[in-house]
Amino acid sequence: VKIDLAGNKLMDSPFSINPAGYTIHSAVHEVRHDVACVVHIHTAAGIAVSAQKQGLLPLSQQSLFVLASLAYHGYEGVALNHDEKARLQADLGDKNFMILPNHGLLTASNSIADTFLMMFTLQRACEIQVMAQSGGAELIHIPQQILNGAKAMVAGVMKSAQGMGGSLAWPALLRKLDQQMPGYDA
Ligand SMILES: [Zn+2]
Repeated sequence: VKIDLAGNKLMDSPFSINPAGYTIHSAVHEVRHDVACVVHIHTAAGIAVSAQKQGLLPLSQQSLFVLASLAYHGYEGVALNHDEKARLQADLGDKNFMILPNHGLLTASNSIADTFLMMFTLQRACEIQVMAQSGGAELIHIPQQILNGAKAMVAGVMKSAQGMGGSLAWPALLRKLDQQMPGYDA
């Protein structure tokens, strides 16, 4: 369903939009003019990590990409109160990844492909954290000196891959979809 920033439908559609989803997505689009796509999901692994006080831990290479640009926005109940937008905008700042405690995950960037890949990476980092913790062994945290350099390292990788790598992964995912679900885009 195509809508404008005020939530008005711009196309004929038998479907309505999710009001809480509108609050969250429109909050980001209102202030982040560099952002072309916002993805927000409620997966079990994502919510499980969001419910942990320490949030995402530096346990995997995937987590490094996330930790280089990660924000948190505390839970205020189902997002039907438009006053929440300003607080969500302030918490997100200029970051690409956000964990919403007790609620879910959010990514935002300048392309659909990169935003998808960011979410895939965040989701995978959360799955790894929950799996590593469930093994019960003492965990190895990525050393602080590597974490300190994570921002520069990620910036370097993103420069050489022209972004998160979505321009490589996205066409391949579409080819896979064409094979597995021909006609999905009809
Ligand atoms: Zn949600």
